Amino acid sequence: MKIIAVGWNYAEHNRELNRISIPDHPVIFMKPETALLKDNKPFFLPDFSNRIEYETEIIVRISKMGKNISAKFADRYYDAIGLGIDFTARDLQNEFKSKGAPWEICKGFDNSAPISEFLPKENFNIDNLSFSLKLNDTLVQKGNTHDMIFKVNEIIEYISKFFTLKTGDIIFTGTPVGVGPVKIGDHLEGFIENNKMLDFYVS
Ligand code: MG
Repeated sequence: MKIIAVGWNYAEHNRELNRISIPDHPVIFMKPETALLKDNKPFFLPDFSNRIEYETEIIVRISKMGKNISAKFADRYYDAIGLGIDFTARDLQNEFKSKGAPWEICKGFDNSAPISEFLPKENFNIDNLSFSLKLNDTLVQKGNTHDMIFKVNEIIEYISKFFTLKTGDIIFTGTPVGVGPVKIGDHLEGFIENNKMLDFYVS
């Protein structure tokens, strides 16, 4: 399986990272399967970065193989939604960005993609879904998918021009404003609407 992620998909978050212009197509990157962290296992801070930041994101699970999927039919290609954290080594990312170098290391390192269980998509309106993250009991991120620059259907259309989507692939759909660093001992709790989806510690 593969993990495909969208960057810069919420305007307010883009502003917090000093990115003003609206992208004219989704910004895409990937994480390898070894990035997955499941079952609320602890996230161990890696020693190669001094600033790992959380990015809370709605994720969707692909349920059917597809290529060149049109946005109109994209909802036939995923069956479930969940919550994920796109952990990012921000210090390395800033260094790579300044050099125009690729992002893989800072986004795709081992365990950089904690994910929740999945819920059937029928129970939710994917384009009006609120989600949030509490860090040590304080609300730090609160988003709603209606603020996405590119909607899930448009993301699937775009991605599938380049990459065949296969059953089990996961798409991270971007993070809202409020990203920040984690340290050892931190407690992260993620929610989709009132459902607690993630509950784990940084070790
Ligand atoms: Mg992200």
